[in-house]
Amino acid sequence: MVLANANGTPAAVPTAPSWSAADGAALYGLDRWGDPYFSVSARGHVMVQPRGDRGGSLDLVDLVQELQGRDLSLPLLIRFDDILEDRLERLHAAFGRAIAQYGYSGRYQGVFPVKCNQQRHVVEQLVETGRRWHFGLEAGSKAELLIALSLLEDPEALLICNGYKDRRYIETAILARRLGRQPVVVIEQADEVERIIAASQDLGAAPFLGIRAKLSTRSTGRWGSSVGERAKFGLSIPDVLSTVATLREAGLLSDLRLLHFHIGSQINDIAVLKDALQEAGQIYVELTRLGAPMGFLDVGGGLGIDYDGSRTATAASTNYSLQNYANDVVATVRECCEPHNVPVPTLVSESGRAIASHFSVLVFDVLGAGSVPGDMPELEDGEPLVLRNLRDTYKGILEESHGVLTAVDPEGPMDQGAAPERLQEAWNDALKFKDDALAAFRLGYLSLPDRAKAEQLTWACCKAIAEQLEAMAQKTLIPEELRGLPAALAGTYFANLSVFRSAPDTWAIDQLFPVMPLHRLEERPTRLGSFADLTCDSDGKIARFIDRGQVKSLLELHSLRPGEPYWIGLFLGGAYQEVMGNLHNLFGTTNAVHIRLSDGGGYRVDHVVRGDTNAEVLKAMEHDPDLLLERLRVVSEEAISKGQLAISDARRLMAHLRTSLGQTTYLQD
Ligand SMILES: *Cc1c(COP(=O)(O)O)cnc(C)c1O
Repeated sequence: MVLANANGTPAAVPTAPSWSAADGAALYGLDRWGDPYFSVSARGHVMVQPRGDRGGSLDLVDLVQELQGRDLSLPLLIRFDDILEDRLERLHAAFGRAIAQYGYSGRYQGVFPVKCNQQRHVVEQLVETGRRWHFGLEAGSKAELLIALSLLEDPEALLICNGYKDRRYIETAILARRLGRQPVVVIEQADEVERIIAASQDLGAAPFLGIRAKLSTRSTGRWGSSVGERAKFGLSIPDVLSTVATLREAGLLSDLRLLHFHIGSQINDIAVLKDALQEAGQIYVELTRLGAPMGFLDVGGGLGIDYDGSRTATAASTNYSLQNYANDVVATVRECCEPHNVPVPTLVSESGRAIASHFSVLVFDVLGAGSVPGDMPELEDGEPLVLRNLRDTYKGILEESHGVLTAVDPEGPMDQGAAPERLQEAWNDALKFKDDALAAFRLGYLSLPDRAKAEQLTWACCKAIAEQLEAMAQKTLIPEELRGLPAALAGTYFANLSVFRSAPDTWAIDQLFPVMPLHRLEERPTRLGSFADLTCDSDGKIARFIDRGQVKSLLELHSLRPGEPYWIGLFLGGAYQEVMGNLHNLFGTTNAVHIRLSDGGGYRVDHVVRGDTNAEVLKAMEHDPDLLLERLRVVSEEAISKGQLAISDARRLMAHLRTSLGQTTYLQD
């Protein structure tokens, strides 16, 4: 890189190529995973198109500002019910197209697995929106069954009953049929058959029955063990056959309507699904041959989300689209049934993640950023040798930088060996001098202020080298050891958030979610960083980020500006995170809002769900907030009478405690 103009005078340091909001969108992959719901405006703000391609958009930054004005402090979970509706429409449209394309003579009739997001407003919204397709619900426990039974009023919608079932669960499902519901009790364990038979005989009525088969097809990735012979749920093929025989004997085979399988969540590779579909399709055909009326094939969940937008069969992505998925289900089932003249079944899917991921956005603020102490300490007379050495090293690095940018003279520094090598040498020197300084400190020869200076000087060298590496990044091979320097300089951004509460899967199963700033996208990010949350747990961090089929440990971020907020969004977290989140360090639920686009532009706040207060999380642990306050009142009275505490200070202390009890558990302005 020779940067000089014709008369040989050094040119100015080249200004970085220009940067626009579109570059910001590309950097964070928003244009890939966000489509069609999220985009970036020319102002560099994240925009939300809650109705997808059908028009209408909201500036997420303006929205957060206005919600804050309504006393909804961050962190804030914003649920876009229009997105939920759009997802349902897309799912049904995809199956509709596939059914038309393959001339499938059956229907699609899906259900939402309640375990994916049990929040009342979410389930209510899905039931209401889904009515036009007779969209149903899937329950996996008694409490979820209760939700499904009471919310699902459509007599044609399916109510799939999965999970472990005791006698009461089974009887509830049988009786629900008399309420005009369509419960399907799916036999997941061999011993459930006896209970179902006994309950049916007792009540003189039977539920619709389904069988969950253990397939031999193994899914890849995280949930691969959900299938196969050792899976937790489902009947092995011998068990399927003996169950059919038992049902026949009990006169219940005529109620066997559905075959179910579930090969695990987030299927990354469509090839796995195809295998499973073929296997299940054949089992379905066999069941009809054995005399069961059947009519429904339930392909379970697993429809994946492209979290990183890479369209690959990696953990955070899928190598198929929603339409590919629907096509494969429809085509494969048809291929299985037709040669045997078996009427094709109504297709059921239990897609949770694919319906509920997009609609909620978690917004949190950054409280501050930690960085390395790399400021140059002032030069003082009589500094110890090791500090002088470090200063010389630093000077050498700066001269190197001058050399890189102005090397026009063939005898100049550029030709005395490659620059990266000399930078490597300088870095080795800096590390050696720093070690010397530490040794001197341990032996009592170096003062604490001098030790601090040694650290500052070492970091200053590190920064100076990193800056030069950046300037030469494209042109030169950078030694392995130096490549880690920018990361060593990376900052920690302190997030007003608990990952254990709001993004537990990032911690528990290394799940990746797209995370990015909501604003300043028209501005080139100049720092690398990761997030540390509020909990006193070193696992409480977000330090894995999407990177087109890979993972990176640092995210490009902006430097904080005093007095200006820096808002970060965590996207695609609408499935599973809320219920899996816990009270670690007693951080409770965040504030949540449901937003709907209004027809005349703008939006409506449909529901506000206030986050847990400190009093509520204390009660969850069996503490009595009033009692805690009263104890502290008594202690402060004692302190007042001993003259240790002024009455005004006691009043202030009690006021702080009382106010905190009524507020959310996160940091407030
Ligand atoms: C969890 C679960 C689902 C939902 O899976 P997704 O991958 O979220 O679609 C569906 N069916 C069963 C039986 C489940 O356990």
